[in-house]
Amino acid sequence: MYGVAQPIQKLIDALESLPGIGPKSASRLAFHILRMPDDQVQTLAESIASLKENILYCSQCQNLSQTDPCEICNDPSRDRHLICVVEDPMDVVAIERTHVYKGLYHVLHGVINPVEGIGPEDLYIQPLLERLQQNKNDITEILIATNPNMEGEATAMYLARLLHPQGVRVTRLARGLPVGGDLEYADEVTLSRSLEGRRDI
Ligand SMILES: [Zn+2]
Repeated sequence: MYGVAQPIQKLIDALESLPGIGPKSASRLAFHILRMPDDQVQTLAESIASLKENILYCSQCQNLSQTDPCEICNDPSRDRHLICVVEDPMDVVAIERTHVYKGLYHVLHGVINPVEGIGPEDLYIQPLLERLQQNKNDITEILIATNPNMEGEATAMYLARLLHPQGVRVTRLARGLPVGGDLEYADEVTLSRSLEGRRDI
């Protein structure tokens, strides 16, 4: 942009590369940061810079965590018979917000999407099978909570086919979530009902 000092332009370009941020929002944010007190800017910069260093994948559920195992896997009050399979870490947050689910999780980090070239081998499906093998006596049910859209449904069906021969109960969230929608944006009441009314697949 003509008339914008290079360091500001650099920040605008970086912000614009984020999802949901267009050129106008990027400029607004950059100029806002410029007006912020030095210590706040420092905190913001440090939290971004250290983010990746301090986050790892929990070796049990594959969720992002600061510790391994993560807080949920480590919590003795969680029900170890039930594992809820979700697409990404934001879905764990959405389900935790309902306060009705007390089991453990498994994060796939995506869904099967042939159009984008994402196959089962690109997801954390193998670690789920290994986890099931290693905890055969503990795990009795796997609740597949992928999103109620085409890719989510296809992934659920694929998982169900793999899991049934393992002798474990396989369930899916009840209908009621908006079709084509995203779990992450479902309201808590709808999501709670969907968890409680889960059905066998
Ligand atoms: Zn974990």
